[in-house]
Amino acid sequence: MVTVEADAAAVERRLAAGELTCPKCGGVLRGWGWGRCRRLRGPAGSVEVRPRRTRCMTCSVTHVLLPAFALVRRADVVEVVGAGLELAVCGWGHRRIAECLRRPASTVRGWLRCFSRRAVPVAAVFTSLLVALADDPSVVLPAPAASAVADAVAAVVGYATVTRSRFAVATAPIWRIAAAACHGRLLAPGWPPTRNR
Ligand SMILES: [Zn+2]
Repeated sequence: MVTVEADAAAVERRLAAGELTCPKCGGVLRGWGWGRCRRLRGPAGSVEVRPRRTRCMTCSVTHVLLPAFALVRRADVVEVVGAGLELAVCGWGHRRIAECLRRPASTVRGWLRCFSRRAVPVAAVFTSLLVALADDPSVVLPAPAASAVADAVAAVVGYATVTRSRFAVATAPIWRIAAAACHGRLLAPGWPPTRNR
């Protein structure tokens, strides 16, 4: 899985120009058909996604290109999930969050449970990404928060904020930057990898 920008036409242009590289070996990725269309639930209605399949010209491994708003195995776009996590940090329960975001309570409970189980390694991953990017990490490192979930959300937001200031993505939504950093695996099984735990 490789996360790319949301603009499918721009992704096709980059693919044709050989600008997308294999995360395993750094080889050039070429188009290799499309996956099945999926409908994701966005903040204001559904969004259709047709995952682009690619194949590495060097190692022949295939990779699916996932737009940065999508999360592996989740029907809601990352901004919506991220808004739910931020509200949880503010002390909201899953039912109130679900009502606010107009999602089923069971869906929101699923995000919160999944994220809280991995909150400590998620905080570690995003904190180390943040430290690697920042000129002076002591300035941008978030202070310890009231809970592991709050620490993890603070690390995600801190990393995305520094990324916005460092690269040409000043207007990219915070949670899309986070999804790109973990290739959409924020709530996917097996992430963060065990070595980070
Ligand atoms: Zn490769």
